[in-house]
This record gives sequence, C-alpha cells and structure tokens, in this order.
Amino acid sequence: MRSDRIIQPKTNDPYHKARKDSEGAYCPECHALYRQGRWVWDRKGGKLLEPRVCSACRRARDRFPAGEVLVTGSYFKSHRSEIENLISNVVGEENGRSPLKRVIDFDSQEGALRVSLTDDHLARHIGDALYKAYRGKLEVRRSGGDKFVRLYWHRDA
Ligand SMILES: [Zn+2]
Repeated sequence: MRSDRIIQPKTNDPYHKARKDSEGAYCPECHALYRQGRWVWDRKGGKLLEPRVCSACRRARDRFPAGEVLVTGSYFKSHRSEIENLISNVVGEENGRSPLKRVIDFDSQEGALRVSLTDDHLARHIGDALYKAYRGKLEVRRSGGDKFVRLYWHRDA
C-alpha cells in the first residue's frame, strides 16, 4: 500500500477531486467537458469519451456548497434588485469561463440575501464586486482545513 493512501486528508470535501477526472470526460448533466486539466464548456460538441458527473453538478444535487455569500443591512432592502443583478452578472461572467462556478441556491428575502455556490472563488468574486460597487463591510470566514468560504457583506443606509 502506498503511504499516501493511509494519511487522512485535511479536507473532508469529497468534491475536491479534480485530478481524478480524466481527459475527455464529459458531464452528462451539464455537458461540460474535461479538457487539458480543467472543466470547460464544450460549445462544439467534442468527442464524448467517459461520462462523469462534474463536481458542480454533484454539489448542486447534494446541496453541498463550497461557498456562501450573505448580504444583510438596510441598504439591501432599498437596493435589492440592483444588488441581485450585480450578483447575477458576476455569476454569469464567471460561469461563462468555468462550468464549475454556479449558484446552488439564491434565497432572497426582504431583509437578507443568501447565495450558496459551487465554488469558493466565486463567493470571493461576488464579495469583491459588492464591496467595489457599494463599499459597506465585507467579512470572509473560512472554516478549518476546509475549502468552504463564507462571506458576509453588510451595509446600512
Ligand atoms: Zn456537470
């Protein structure tokens, strides 16, 4: 037995297995293609070699996000659709570049917005965009050895 097989991984994230995906694999759920070491959108319809559900689809199915953005404060109440649009635009842009960056849940209520995501970097991009556009208070919390990141953005008035 190889020694690296008995070492407990620092993360218990079962979705962080990109290296196991093999060249030419495709996701039967979202039709992304694994090519040159990463998942990409396949616009031409390439050779479909090996069906393998990508991590974003698995996360969405299991409702197991890699990142989360929480928006609170009275500024959100008065600028709700504007803020929602900003977030949607960031997601759309990032998703165009990578199939693994997606929204799992977009839960917008009157006083707060919670967006759960398939990708921790996407959470950061959203946080950065909110701060850049509206300032306010941005706080990032990572949990333990996990990749999971939770972002809090808050602004009053
Ligand atoms: Zn997929």
